[in-house]
Amino acid sequence: MSPVLVLGIDGVRHDALCAASTPALDRLAATGYRVPVPVSADSPTISGPCWTTIATGLSAPVHGVWDNVTPGHPVRPDFLSRIRAARPGAVTFAAAGWAPLVRPVGCGPIFAGPGLLPLADDERYDVAAADRADEAIVAGTVAALATEAPVAAFVHLGTPDLVAHRDGVGAGYRQAIETADRRAGRILAAVRDRAAATGEDWTVLATTDHGHRDGGGHGGDSVAERAAWLIAAGPGVPRQPPTVPTQAGICTLVLAAAGVGSDDAEASA
Ligand SMILES: [Zn+2]
Repeated sequence: MSPVLVLGIDGVRHDALCAASTPALDRLAATGYRVPVPVSADSPTISGPCWTTIATGLSAPVHGVWDNVTPGHPVRPDFLSRIRAARPGAVTFAAAGWAPLVRPVGCGPIFAGPGLLPLADDERYDVAAADRADEAIVAGTVAALATEAPVAAFVHLGTPDLVAHRDGVGAGYRQAIETADRRAGRILAAVRDRAAATGEDWTVLATTDHGHRDGGGHGGDSVAERAAWLIAAGPGVPRQPPTVPTQAGICTLVLAAAGVGSDDAEASA
């Protein structure tokens, strides 16, 4: 059983990730693997459905989240809730700038339970706000890793998605991905510090929910919009990626790394 961090960077197309300079994520991938994870054909390439699939391990037709505004069926809790249910007393946290990930608004909460949402309820989630939120999320995550004892966390960085929506897939998007990588690097350094202080051996997954069209935007059926990916490293995940990596499978990887068996998980469903 290993503590698990899932770093979700919104709207980062796989080829753009590969083209950008991302030393922190590269370093993580070097100790594990990085694979393309196309958004499943039965899911729209929209944040709500894709993050819900990652959080629950269920396909869109099963969880019923088809957009960002309408909740789905409460078929199965998110992986953080399942870990808390299986390990009473376990501390988890979710941090996100995009409200439906952690608050009961729109299709949310995708992650129920303790969460950090730096923005105000009525705040517009634009590039500037997302950038501010991402910075606060990094600070909050670093502090939580230093002062609490989380066994699992989901941490979302949202700025690259909003930059792509505004400017398309170009130089600004690349810069936003590189900024997200530096933020990821600060979080990963905090994980290493925690591991050094406690002897814990952390598993870290980094992923995205969907890609983008060249001009910016997603929700359609193109290869570019489906171009998600996964980086996984640590004692809780196999050294080799799954033969057919899926977003639903990310939930399975997290639960396995956390030592939560399928019986435990089903019992909490
Ligand atoms: Zn998204």
